[in-house]
Amino acid sequence: MEIFKPLDLSKDTQEPDIKNVEKIKCLIIGSGPAGYTAAIYAARANLNPILYTGLQMGGQLMTTTEVENFPGYRDGVTGPAMMEDFKRQAERFGAEVRFGIATKVDFSGKIHKVIIDDSKIIEADSVIIATGATARYLGLEAESRYAGMGVSACATCDGFFYKGKDVAVVGGGDTAAEEATYLAGLCRKVYMIVRRNVLRASQAMQKKVMNTPNIEILWEHQAVDLFGENGVEGVVLVKKKGTPEEEIVKVKIDGFFLAIGHTPNSDVFKDFIDICETGYIRTLPGSSKTNIPGVFAAGDVQDPVYRQAVTAAGSGCMAAIDAERYLSEQKA
Ligand code: FAD
Ligand code: NAP
Repeated sequence: MEIFKPLDLSKDTQEPDIKNVEKIKCLIIGSGPAGYTAAIYAARANLNPILYTGLQMGGQLMTTTEVENFPGYRDGVTGPAMMEDFKRQAERFGAEVRFGIATKVDFSGKIHKVIIDDSKIIEADSVIIATGATARYLGLEAESRYAGMGVSACATCDGFFYKGKDVAVVGGGDTAAEEATYLAGLCRKVYMIVRRNVLRASQAMQKKVMNTPNIEILWEHQAVDLFGENGVEGVVLVKKKGTPEEEIVKVKIDGFFLAIGHTPNSDVFKDFIDICETGYIRTLPGSSKTNIPGVFAAGDVQDPVYRQAVTAAGSGCMAAIDAERYLSEQKA
């Protein structure tokens, strides 16, 4: 019987016995707008970058329909089509795009070690972290109970299954507004469950929601449970929680969509890289430099403020330029 030991490359332990080692100049982790833009610039600067895509090849925009605010696409573009364009542009200049996940890192030495899929070590002179962010859940037990049976964090992936039905979207930000508007085109009725009495979404998105007749906003409501026999049949809400008017409300729905924000994917780096309380990687203001020389961060993983495709792409460009300058300085 084979026994698999968990891999441990933390500072205080020995390196795992992985024979598959590859030495490269520039490693890019992540395939969203930040990672692919870094790859375009790094490839054109002759850094021969290798980019690992992670599980979600193309990043967050793979879960959206229309992107209307990325410069250059005059008539808008779908998220997946845009990310395919990014990938092809990076490959055109020689960037190598590989499927794989960074599972462990060791940034204690001058050569930065990154374990891919627990089975290969990349020894890189420079590393660009562009691992983005992941959808958040409320943390209700019901979310796991009904996983794949009415609970989703991606309207564009799963909305089709709720054609002509009633659904709810939790959240009041741009994502929730966008998901609700998208679902309104497919579903009979869309409830937006909003915990405050205002939306966080941009004015443009708010206007879209308000002008969509089959979206109803449930202001000051919080989801606390789901019910249903073989899948979601309804949601239990607390209205005006903590006030004298607090009441329990049940709403019949077939689908429950989460759109309450994202968590930065920085966990794998946290033993070496400075991270803020909310999990975002700290970069030196005005640059992509982290606390480790030769390790740079770009995109949503280091941006708690803007979190847009164009800002992610811009910071990917910065990271590649910073990496190129760092490598030149090392040679000098
Ligand atoms: P992401 O796009 O999050 O990509 C991260 C990448 O890192 C992924 O490829 C993932 O697989 C990879 N990864 C993660 N962990 C690892 C690991 N351990 N090893 C290897 N790879 C890893 N912005 C706009 O400007 N316009 C819009 O219209 C718009 N619409 C949006 C709609 C939705 C539904 C959402 C959720 C966001 C939207 N945004 C929009 C925001 C935009 O998608 C993000 O700002 C942008 O994708 C961030 O890019 P990124 O490259 O930093 O990371
Ligand atoms: P966000 O802006 O952080 O909004 C999250 C929403 O979820 C907020 O309304 C928040 O409520 C609510 N929420 C958070 N935790 C909750 C909980 N436990 N229970 C109930 N509600 C909860 O996240 P986002 O909407 O995903 O947007 C992220 C970034 O991507 C933003 O910068 C946004 O502009 C961008 N984006 C842009 C577009 C576009 O331009 N078309 C589309 C999508 C996203 P509170 O308001 O009360 O905190």
